[in-house]
Amino acid sequence: MEYYSGHISKLIEELTGLPGIGAKSAQRLAFHLLNMPVERVEKLAETVVSARKNVRYCAQCLTLTDDELCPVCKNGKRDHRQIMVVENPRDLAAYEKTGKYEGVYHVLHGAISPMLGIGPNDIRLKELMQRLQADVDEVIIATNSSLEGETTAMYISKLIKPTGIRVTRIASGVPVGGDLEYIDEVTLLRALEGRTDL
Ligand code: ZN
Repeated sequence: MEYYSGHISKLIEELTGLPGIGAKSAQRLAFHLLNMPVERVEKLAETVVSARKNVRYCAQCLTLTDDELCPVCKNGKRDHRQIMVVENPRDLAAYEKTGKYEGVYHVLHGAISPMLGIGPNDIRLKELMQRLQADVDEVIIATNSSLEGETTAMYISKLIKPTGIRVTRIASGVPVGGDLEYIDEVTLLRALEGRTDL
């Protein structure tokens, strides 16, 4: 890194470690940024800062949004008695892209992973249980089919069972270990339609 001037080194350092960005990619990005017109770099920097400062958690489903409530929770036409539990906002987006799901969501922001030391209190489960105090007909658990996703699904199901609310799990048309966000819409819909009671 001593081949580069202080500013360049600092830039590479800040970029390294972003998801998917190793030392080599960080250098490539840094030099790309340095070759961009100053106005474009300014715009990029402003966009990043503004998104970080203005995006917040939806007061109901906890997805990331610009307002108090996200567009799905705000929509009176959605079925607010059907809640689909997903791991992150990208999974929510994947189901929204199908255009066929009419219920609302709950975003956990993670999954239970004893190996990584992530317990039930580290994801947004308490908020889900609070939401179930209102009129809810069904909770659809759409966590990933990874070990963490399955562990989380089992845990949630046990937690909700005593309330008498119907708990379902999306079908395993979704490949094992597959991240929801990479799965095509047809498969996602099939998984939703083929969901089974837990
Ligand atoms: Zn919401």
